[in-house]
Amino acid sequence: MLKTLRVSTFAPPGVFHGFGTRDFTLKEFDEEFRSYDILQLKQVHSTKILVEEEGEGDGLISRKRGTILVIKTADCMPIFLAHRKGEVIAALHGGWRGLCNGIIPAAVKMLREMGFSPSEMEAALGPSIGPCCYEVGEEVFECFRQNNLPFLRREKKLDLPTTAELHLKESGIEKVHSLALCTRCHPWLFYSYRRGDRKVRMFSYIGLLEIK
Ligand SMILES: [Zn+2]
Repeated sequence: MLKTLRVSTFAPPGVFHGFGTRDFTLKEFDEEFRSYDILQLKQVHSTKILVEEEGEGDGLISRKRGTILVIKTADCMPIFLAHRKGEVIAALHGGWRGLCNGIIPAAVKMLREMGFSPSEMEAALGPSIGPCCYEVGEEVFECFRQNNLPFLRREKKLDLPTTAELHLKESGIEKVHSLALCTRCHPWLFYSYRRGDRKVRMFSYIGLLEIK
């Protein structure tokens, strides 16, 4: 069983990550990462980002070694950021609302305030519902139109990966790795809210090793 997917090119020193499939649970951490701090969020489709603490929000940032940041999704996109020397990591919950309202620029702004230039960061985009399957209603369409996001096609389908990549590059993060797999199109790998998985979520994580 394939439990997690990784972007092999996204590998700053001391940083590890995994995009969980439907066969992965956090219990897998019990052995290997027993001594780590595992931070999770009560995700609410906001642009709120927390630094080294749990709570309500949709992004986490950490500079602490021995920390793992977790994002739960089922069609939304887990987005990871890491400093190229492994000085800091971030994990974002990228649904349409968070992306449209600017969770990526918000995270980059916070990192900048903490002293990390976007030119020193790289990003990895996890699986999400793809433009093949993401037909949206008026409310979503309006949000994207008002924010001048050009990724609605004539049939009102939304492209989350391209939107995320656009925001990362506009924010100054040039190095973007993508695992562009559609959650709805791969039922043997992923849960998909749109396909009917209403109460289950996949767990994706990024961590800083205890010892560099
Ligand atoms: Zn699809």
